[in-house]
Amino acid sequence: PLPAAPAAARLCSGAGGEAAAAGGAGAMLRHLARKLRASGPVTVAEYMREALTNPGQGYYTRRGGVGESGDFITSPEISQVFGELIGIWYISEWMAMGKPSTFQLVELGPGQGTLTEDILRVFKQLSSVLSKCDVSVHLVEVSPKLSEIQAVMLTGGKVQPSPEDDSAYMKGISKTGIPIFWYRDIQDVPPGYSFYLAHEFFDALPIHKFQRTEKGWREVLVDIDPEVPDQLRFVLSPSRTPATQNFIQPEETRDHVEVCPEAGVIVQRLASRIEKDGGAALVADYGHDGTKTDTFRGFRNHKLHDVLSAPGTADLTADVDFSYLRKMAQGKTATLGPIKQREFLKNMGIDLRLQVLLQNSGDTATREQLLHSYDMLMNPEKMGDCFNFFALLPHHRLVHPDKKDKRESKSPLPPVAGFHELLLK
Ligand code: SAH
Repeated sequence: PLPAAPAAARLCSGAGGEAAAAGGAGAMLRHLARKLRASGPVTVAEYMREALTNPGQGYYTRRGGVGESGDFITSPEISQVFGELIGIWYISEWMAMGKPSTFQLVELGPGQGTLTEDILRVFKQLSSVLSKCDVSVHLVEVSPKLSEIQAVMLTGGKVQPSPEDDSAYMKGISKTGIPIFWYRDIQDVPPGYSFYLAHEFFDALPIHKFQRTEKGWREVLVDIDPEVPDQLRFVLSPSRTPATQNFIQPEETRDHVEVCPEAGVIVQRLASRIEKDGGAALVADYGHDGTKTDTFRGFRNHKLHDVLSAPGTADLTADVDFSYLRKMAQGKTATLGPIKQREFLKNMGIDLRLQVLLQNSGDTATREQLLHSYDMLMNPEKMGDCFNFFALLPHHRLVHPDKKDKRESKSPLPPVAGFHELLLK
């Protein structure tokens, strides 16, 4: 059984701990303390990057506690229906885009691999539709530990390390016979017609935090507390920093702002790739449309955890700013959303899928489990409202390119599933 909500999922809005409680003085804390003493405070982004993906002691590097026994649980871990509906989204877009003969499914931050597993099951079930299409899977994962877990989940552990000069670091064949490749960076993924997926990925990327003061914008930094050994604290930069100059929009009205430039760079890359080679990207995460101020928070053992305490032992995360992602697509692609998770899943037909599963399940315990997981995903007070879906699509997917002969009749473009009701022809 799943742990009771809301502690099961990461909470959705800003409850960032501002004061550091005395944390366990682990290896990561000692490493950071040495660094801060030697060269002064670091940006929140640098702190977050160290805590999450430091090659030796980072949270994701060592374990990345996705799942029931970990620190937080995600939608694909709650219900197989979630990944199945996303699999259907890709097939529906593949059909709407004229059934290209080949596509890459590229997932950023695949966690335990559950979402890809559920998507590949749908691809297998609909193999008659996809029969003439050459599909391959490309996973972008920095954590060696999680890539091992993904390999077991998706291939049964049958993977090979790639030669040094290969852009992938590992490859294998899925249980359903599809080739899978692993990379550390989106730039290593070969070009080509691609469907991208980022579920709870952007929220794990490092953010900069800023505060408006009487003297102008200042950056929030992490420093060592001079009074208490090995305890961290937030301080404000005494003057402007390169980040205050580069990342704050002149029209900004908020007093506290979080910016994730790494997310911006990745969206720029996705948009360029889609513009050049075709495809689409689906981004799902908790977030806002440029309105929230303080959302940096930590999770350990399904509970909120002080972000400055015992770095490397807790997941650190911040809400995704979808308005920023939209801006960073720079008009290279069209964007749709953000739309609430419960609306997206409803449009994708979750109610019908639930009915079928309920009818097919013989015992009460399974039925209760199905209803419970549906409630977790859909209830506005659980994951239904705070998780959002957002898509990047080629412009021609939404608007007919201008044709020379204006009299030529244009058939209407099929609606994009999820953002509108699903219509599979
Ligand atoms: N998508 C999964 C897991 C989310 S946890 C799910 O929904 O269940 C975040 C994932 O992103 C982990 O797999 C983590 O190791 C990976 N990750 C974090 N930072 C990354 C980075 N900079 N590059 C690539 N992967 C990263």
